[in-house]
Amino acid sequence: MNEISDDLLTQCMHCGLCLSVCPTYALTGLERSSPRGRIRLMRSVMEEKLPVSDAFVEEMNFCLDCQACETACPAGVKYGELVESARVFVDQKRKGFNLKQFILRKIIVRKRTLRLVARAAGFYQRSGIEGVVLGALKLFSKRLYNRAKLLPRVSDEFAIDVLPEVAEPKDGLRGTVAVLTGCVMDVFYADVNRDTVDVLLENGWQVAVPHDQVCCGSLNAHNGDRETPRALAKKNIEVFERSGADYYVINSAGCGAFMKQYGEVLADDAEFAERAKKFSAKVKDFSEFLYQTGYKKPEAHICKSTVYHEACHLVHAQKVSTEPKSIVRELSGDQFHELNEATWCCGSAGIYNVVRYEDASKLLDRKMKNIKDSGAEVVVTGNPGCMAQIGAGVKNEKLDIEALHPATVLNRLYKSGKL
Ligand code: SF4
Ligand code: SF4
Repeated sequence: MNEISDDLLTQCMHCGLCLSVCPTYALTGLERSSPRGRIRLMRSVMEEKLPVSDAFVEEMNFCLDCQACETACPAGVKYGELVESARVFVDQKRKGFNLKQFILRKIIVRKRTLRLVARAAGFYQRSGIEGVVLGALKLFSKRLYNRAKLLPRVSDEFAIDVLPEVAEPKDGLRGTVAVLTGCVMDVFYADVNRDTVDVLLENGWQVAVPHDQVCCGSLNAHNGDRETPRALAKKNIEVFERSGADYYVINSAGCGAFMKQYGEVLADDAEFAERAKKFSAKVKDFSEFLYQTGYKKPEAHICKSTVYHEACHLVHAQKVSTEPKSIVRELSGDQFHELNEATWCCGSAGIYNVVRYEDASKLLDRKMKNIKDSGAEVVVTGNPGCMAQIGAGVKNEKLDIEALHPATVLNRLYKSGKL
């Protein structure tokens, strides 16, 4: 049985400095919905002073795993690790069918199954059936309607099917990189994967897109599954090692954060511990990589009012903020504006916006208010979940705002010279 580590639990000195940054505490004002309160609950359950009650399970799942508390914590409490262990612990105690685990373990991580589901969803959207279904749901079930309309546009074709396994830059050769196209990323944002490759080529990198790569495992790891992510990590290590690339460039904050942790995830594995450590050392977020290695400045600036939303798994989990923000600032010149509460979760949080729609909506409302107050016409963010969540907010409120990945911004400026 996976216990929640006592060493991690006792690190918390209950100072409360994390409370003001916690989005769920802001929603309820209840101590038990704060990082400190949840740590106390975990300790009580581990010491068997409290049972694994429905209320305990609810609090562990109410948490966004946004890790804003880790950034604020002076004691270095690894809160993400704690809540993920608590979810594994809770999951082992649960009996009966678990829809969330079924989707994560049997669909998301299985390439062929995911593609079949994605193709069916694409047909549902393009054939017009979606409009009919949404119309009916609007009349009979507001709850289902709200969830059904969250589905972002499914890509016409997946990037991994059309991108070559190795592409050479037109001019010069600075080194080699391998790119993760991801699972959900490629279903909904294949265009961002193509933009990522184009931008890297434009900057003189040879780009490998290993076709036998698999899902990074982050969604499972954040939702109570320890074993599947370990198997996926091993497969990706083998595949990316074979590419021979100098760096592994990841354009999804959640995936990048988890791949940087492969070294810890496989630390106890005799065969993979060392390889995983080396693998993680090569992982770079897309913006982090471009900024650190130097990128070609486009001739034109973004000519629309622009803000940068900091994805939780970039700013809090990876501690990457200066690099993407500097790129966005450089690309937008005097059109750059600070976004109030830029590091506050938008409510996407992996699959949180689907499984806890109401809570996620409250966080999205707060984010959308800040975006509207900023006067932004473009919101740049480095995570597909945030793009989808903010995109849903834009659609709901019928606003003329685009939520774009930095790769798309750069590629548009390189290719058409305008945005
Ligand atoms: S800031 Fe850190 S040490 Fe203080 S209560 Fe929060 S988790 Fe505990
Ligand atoms: S991870 Fe986010 S939601 Fe969860 S306790 Fe920390 S700040 Fe709050």
